[in-house]
Amino acid sequence: MAIPTEMTPFQAVVYYFDQACDRLGVNDEIRALMCTPDREVRVELPVRMDDGGLQVFIGYRIQHNNARGPYKGGVRYHPEADEEEVRALASLMTWKTALVDIPFGGAKGGIQCDPRSMSSRELQTMTRRFTHSICQIIGVNRDVPAPDVGTNAQTMAWMMAAYSEENGYSPGVVTGKPMELGGSPGRNEATGKGVSLMVREAAEGFQIPLRDATVVVQGFGNVGSWAAKYLDQMGCRIIAVSDVSGGVRNGGGLDLDGLQAHLDSTGGVFGFSGGDAVTNEELLALECDFLVPAALGGAIHSGNAANINARLVVEGANHPVTPGAEAVLTQRGIPCLPDLLVNAGGVTVSYFEWAQNIQRFPWDLERVNKELEDILVRAYRAVEEKAKAENITFRESAFAIAVERVVRAVELQGLP
Ligand code: GLU
Repeated sequence: MAIPTEMTPFQAVVYYFDQACDRLGVNDEIRALMCTPDREVRVELPVRMDDGGLQVFIGYRIQHNNARGPYKGGVRYHPEADEEEVRALASLMTWKTALVDIPFGGAKGGIQCDPRSMSSRELQTMTRRFTHSICQIIGVNRDVPAPDVGTNAQTMAWMMAAYSEENGYSPGVVTGKPMELGGSPGRNEATGKGVSLMVREAAEGFQIPLRDATVVVQGFGNVGSWAAKYLDQMGCRIIAVSDVSGGVRNGGGLDLDGLQAHLDSTGGVFGFSGGDAVTNEELLALECDFLVPAALGGAIHSGNAANINARLVVEGANHPVTPGAEAVLTQRGIPCLPDLLVNAGGVTVSYFEWAQNIQRFPWDLERVNKELEDILVRAYRAVEEKAKAENITFRESAFAIAVERVVRAVELQGLP
C-alpha cells in the first residue's frame, strides 16, 4: 500500500471521503457538491479585555452539509482553531452524525484564542459577541452548536442566553448546556463513555480480555478523563496518561481518584506522586493493549507511527492519527478505531438533549445511557461487519457507511 504524504486536516477528511466515493461509485457531480462546505462564515469579535485594551478575535462557523438534518457540531476555543482546521472538523461531523444515524448534518465553529489565559468576563463577552454575529445562521432547526476543545457547559449557557435575547427562550439552539438550563443528564461524560463502550466492543471483536487490559490515554481533558474512569471501572489498567502539563505512568495501574485530586489542586497531571514522569513521545510509544489519543489532531503522524506499541489505537480525539500514520499502523498490523465512531457518544447525547428540549420533556440518566449504548453498539457492529466482509479498515468501512447515507439523502432531495 502506498503511504500517503502528510496532509492538512481538511485534505485528510477529503482523502477518506474520496476513497468512500470510489468504493461506492459516487458520480462527480455529487462528489463535488458534498466535498466542500455549504457555508463558511468568518467574523471579527472585538473584546474589551480586563486590562482596558481592545483585542479582536477571529471566529468561524462552517456548515458542511445538512442533507440529513440541521447542521450540528461543537465550537472550539484554541490558538490553532483556524479556518482549515474548523473546515475539516465540520466535514467530519457530517460523517459522524450519518454513521451513528442521528438526524443531523455537520458543522463546526472555532475562535482563535487561548481560553486558559482569559478571564470569565472576557470569555463571556467574546462568546456573546460570537453568538450575535452568527445568530442568523444558527437555530433549533438550522444549526445547533455544542462544546468542543476549550469550551464547556458555561460557554453553551452564554450562547443560549445571547441567542434567546434575539429569538425568545430557545434551549434547543445549543447542546451541552448545564442541567439547570435544559442540559441532558449524561451529556458531560458522554464522549468518554462512548470511547469506553467502543473499547469494550473492540476487546470482544479482537479477542483482547478487558480484565487487566492495559490502556494509555493521551489527553486528560473531558474525553480522556471520563474514558479512563469508565475503562478503569470495566477492569482495565490505566497505565499512563498525559495532558499539556506532562505525563505520568504506573505499570500497575494509576489511582485515578488520586490523580483527579492532584489535577484539581495543581491544574495538570504532571508531578502526580502515584507514578513516574513520562514525556508525550515516551507515552505514545508505551507497550499497551489500547492506546487512546484523546487530545488534539495529528498526535500520531508519519514521524512517530513506527514507535507505536499498542495492539489497537482508539481515536478519542478528532483526527489524532494522520492518513500517513494509519498506513504505517495498518502495515504493522495495528488496527485503528476511527474518531467518527469512537467519539460519537458526545453528539449522540447532544441529539437526546435537543430532542428533550424540543419536546420539553426530560429523560432520566438510565434512559440516556441505554439509548446511547444501543446507538453506539449498533454503529460498531455495522462498521465491523462491513470491514470484515470487504477486507477494509474500520475507518474505510465507517466512511463508506456514512457517505452512502448522506449521498442518498442528497439524491432524494434532488439536484438543481
Ligand atoms: N464536539 C463534539 C464532537 O466533535 C460534540 C459535537 C456535538 O455535540 O454537537 O463530536
